[in-house]
Amino acid sequence: MTDRLTVAIVGAGIGGLTAALAFARNGAEVFVLERAAALKEVGAGIQITPNAARALNALGLADALSEVGFAADAVVPTDAITGRTVARFDLRGQSPRFRFCHRAHLLRELGTAAHAAGAKIHLGVAVTSVSQDGVLQTTSGSMEADLVVGADGIRSTMRFFCNPAAKDAQFTGQVAWRGIIPASNVPPEARIWMAPGRHLVTYPLADNMLNLVAVQERDAWADEGWDHADDPANLQAAFADCAPNLQHLLANVESSRLWGLFRHDVASVWSRGKVVLLGDAAHPTLPFLAQGANLAIEDAYVLARCLTEHKSVQSACRRYQQLRRDRVVRAIAAANANAQNYHLSGLKRRVAFAGLRTLGAVAPNAFLRRLSWLYDHDVTD
Ligand SMILES: Cc1cc2nc3c(=O)[nH]c(=O)nc-3n(C[C@H](O)[C@H](O)[C@H](O)COP(=O)(O)OP(=O)(O)OC[C@H]3O[C@@H](n4cnc5c(N)ncnc54)[C@H](O)[C@@H]3O)c2cc1C
Repeated sequence: MTDRLTVAIVGAGIGGLTAALAFARNGAEVFVLERAAALKEVGAGIQITPNAARALNALGLADALSEVGFAADAVVPTDAITGRTVARFDLRGQSPRFRFCHRAHLLRELGTAAHAAGAKIHLGVAVTSVSQDGVLQTTSGSMEADLVVGADGIRSTMRFFCNPAAKDAQFTGQVAWRGIIPASNVPPEARIWMAPGRHLVTYPLADNMLNLVAVQERDAWADEGWDHADDPANLQAAFADCAPNLQHLLANVESSRLWGLFRHDVASVWSRGKVVLLGDAAHPTLPFLAQGANLAIEDAYVLARCLTEHKSVQSACRRYQQLRRDRVVRAIAAANANAQNYHLSGLKRRVAFAGLRTLGAVAPNAFLRRLSWLYDHDVTD
């Protein structure tokens, strides 16, 4: 039924633009409404894992993806206190490959492909309200669509439209910083620097840059938005007792962003009337498995496909939620568990490191095998 549909997508993030491309390819008339004045993303890296890469490849982005992203060779748990590698787990056995991308480059490719497929992207237009019969009020007037896709991210208003009784998010007692520093000749590996109560993930990006995201457990609350400037000295102080090689990296951080990590329930209702949610609007996840964007890409692909296979918008949206909910709940639970594993102290830490060392030596593919339910999943199948 997609070729008769008018689809309005709220939000031109990774999920919204993937949905725009998928619906436009299926013949829908697509409008994307994005409140930001330009399609630029906060400067940070993003890991695209094989499960999402399959969907992007099926949408014709295989070449673009290999152009904007480094193929990742390994994930390397590291003791942040000593600076020593604990284990090295191979990522090369996967097809498609894991990739490290700059978010801005990925957004640019998605935006270009969606536009070429016929989607109309309206920047600087914020959606202010929606009704279940598909009428949107925006800062540029009103419009009506057969389907409204709420891809408006972690602070989604569409989620509350579909779930008026949703509970507020809970502060996890963790804050995160992100930054990018110049670094040349860095191997294509994601290094997870683990210390009691803290960890930091680094990986290389194009143009000789290194992306870093650090997390610290602390009581002091920080806001959930991703773009609050914070003095790099605070990030450096959080890792001041760590190894010289890590401190050396952090000394190069000239500007950093700080935000609080909040736990949200997965929305219990993903669609109401002609309005349907995807990505962070439906299921924000903590960043410890690097799946927020990957799941949003999967959602977009599955939603567009459900619309081609069902006679009514409502039955397609119900089927979409059925297909997606258990999987995202499982991924979010796995991300939550990682938060604890990265921050161990004392005996638990020593035991965990000994286990990782042995596992890395005898089974370098263990990381991929343990998460095969996540990475081998093929939404295009
Ligand atoms: C530092 C960091 C690193 C991350 N690393 C990874 C990673 O490696 N891998 C991974 O999979 N995930 C990662 N994530 C998570 C990932 O970025 C998010 O899960 C993903 O961006 C969600 O996509 P989305 O399209 O649902 O929402 P978003 O990308 O947040 O897009 C929402 C869009 O909606 C727009 N919008 C909001 N309200 C309105 C409105 N009323 N009207 C119009 N437009 C509106 C916003 O401006 C925004 O452009 C990371 C997150 C952070 C913060």
